[in-house]
Amino acid sequence: MTGTAETAGTVSNWARTITYTAREFHRPRTLSALAALVGASERVRVLGSGHSFNRIADPGPDGVLVSTADLPRVIDVDTAARTVRVSGGVRYADLAETVHAHGLALANMASLPHISVAGSVATGTHGSGVGNGPLASAVREVEMVVASGDTGIIGRDDPRFGGAVTSLGALGVVTALTLDLEAAYEVEQRVYTELPLEGLDFAAVAAAGYSVSLFTDWRKPGFRQVWVKRRTDRPAVDFPWAAPAEVPLHPVPGMPAGNCTEQFGVPGPWHERLPHFRAEFTPSSGEEIQSEYLLPRSAALDALYAIDGIRSTVAGVLQTCEVRTVAADAQWLSPAHDRDSVALHFTWVRDEAAVLPVVRRLEEALEPFDPRPHWGKVFQTPSAVLRGRYARFDDFASLVRQVDPSGTFANAFVRDLLGLPEDR
Ligand SMILES: Cc1cc2nc3c(=O)[nH]c(=O)nc-3n(C[C@H](O)[C@H](O)[C@H](O)COP(=O)(O)OP(=O)(O)OC[C@H]3O[C@@H](n4cnc5c(N)ncnc54)[C@H](O)[C@@H]3O)c2cc1C
Repeated sequence: MTGTAETAGTVSNWARTITYTAREFHRPRTLSALAALVGASERVRVLGSGHSFNRIADPGPDGVLVSTADLPRVIDVDTAARTVRVSGGVRYADLAETVHAHGLALANMASLPHISVAGSVATGTHGSGVGNGPLASAVREVEMVVASGDTGIIGRDDPRFGGAVTSLGALGVVTALTLDLEAAYEVEQRVYTELPLEGLDFAAVAAAGYSVSLFTDWRKPGFRQVWVKRRTDRPAVDFPWAAPAEVPLHPVPGMPAGNCTEQFGVPGPWHERLPHFRAEFTPSSGEEIQSEYLLPRSAALDALYAIDGIRSTVAGVLQTCEVRTVAADAQWLSPAHDRDSVALHFTWVRDEAAVLPVVRRLEEALEPFDPRPHWGKVFQTPSAVLRGRYARFDDFASLVRQVDPSGTFANAFVRDLLGLPEDR
C-alpha cells in the first residue's frame, strides 16, 4: 500500500502562493511504502506542513512530491534521558502537548506551532531569545530514507551532522528525529506598545525576557508592539522603555487577538506562551508572503536604521515586521551559523508583483550587514552571493554529493544553490 497518489498541480503551500509542479503526489502510510516509492523514483521532494513561501519543496514537473502527513505518528519520550524521538511529519503543537504531559519541555518554539518538525529544522526555523538557537539546535539524531530506499542515521558525533539537520531536504526523507528536552517550565507573556527607535538599547530590550519580539509596520519610526515572554523560573527583568498594552493584541494591526496566546502576564505552560498563535486556531487568513533575514546581532541597530531609511517603500506592501534574536548554531547552512543573530522578518501583502521589487530594495539596504535569508521564505539574493555567506558551504555541497550522488533529492532550488547541472 503506497497511500494515495493525487493529481499533480493541485497541491499548494499553506499561503496558496505556490502550486507544486510535481508529476505525482503521494501520501505513503507506511515506512516500507515510503522506502519503495523513493527507491523507484528518479526525483523526489518531501512536503512537510507546507508553510514555506518559495519553491524549496517543489520537485519540478518530472518529480514526485511525497507528503509525510499520513506516515505513522511516533512521539516516544524518554523521561530519564530527557529526549524525544519524533516522526518527521509531526507538528510542534502535537509534539509539545505530549512532551508537556511527561513534565518535560522544548527549549523554544517558532511563532506558530502548526509546522512540522522535519520541515522546520530543514529550513533553519527559529523562535526568539538571546540564548536560544534555532529549533535545529535541539536535534541529537536524524533518521532518513536516502535515494536507494535504505535508512540511514546521523547523530551528533558523526562528522556529517553539521549538514544533516538544516539540510533543505536535499539528503533524503527525514522519517524521525531525536530531540533534547528539559524540565517543563512556565512562561508569562506581556505586550508593550510604542517603543521608539531613537535611543533604542537593542541589546537590553532583546534580553528583557527569555524570548522577545519587536513588531512594527514601518509607517513611522519605532515599534508598535514588543512581546516579552519571561520564564517564571528566571529572575524578572524590568521593561522601562514602553508602556504595557491595555488590551490583548495581534501582531498584525486590525487582526483579532483571540488567535493569539495569553497575554497580561498570566503564567502558563511553555508551549502555550512561546508561540504567538494558539495551536487550536489558524494563525491568520494566509493572505500573506513572508521574507526574513538573519544578520550579526551587533549590526541590529544599524540595520534597523537602514530599513528606517526606506520606510515608506517597505510600509507600502507590509503587514507587519518582527525583529527577533537567535543564538549562533553549528548547522553549516543555518542562517544563524556561527554568529549570534538578529532576525528581521517581514509579513508582506499577498501580491508578488508588488512585493518582489521591495524585497530587492530591502536586500540592497541590508547588503552591508551580510544578511542570510530564511530558506523557507521569499528572497531574491543570487545563489552565488549566498554561497559566500556560509563558511561551510562547500562542506554541505560535498555532503549532498556523497549522500545523494544521483541527485534524487535535488530540485531547481537546490541545483541553483549548489551550482549543480540540470541533469543532476
Ligand atoms: C504563518 C507562518 C509563520 C511562520 N513562523 C515562523 C517562525 O516563527 N520562525 C521561522 O523561522 N519560520 C517561520 N515560518 C516559516 C516556516 O517555519 C518554514 O517555512 C518551515 O520550513 C515550515 O515547515 P514545513 O513542514 O511547513 O515545511 P515545508 O514547507 O513543507 O518544507 C520546507 C522544506 O523542508 C523539507 N522537508 C519537509 N519535511 C521533510 C522531511 N520529512 N524530510 C526531508 N525534508 C523535509 C521540504 O522538502 C522543503 O525543502 C512561518 C511560516 C508561516 C506560514
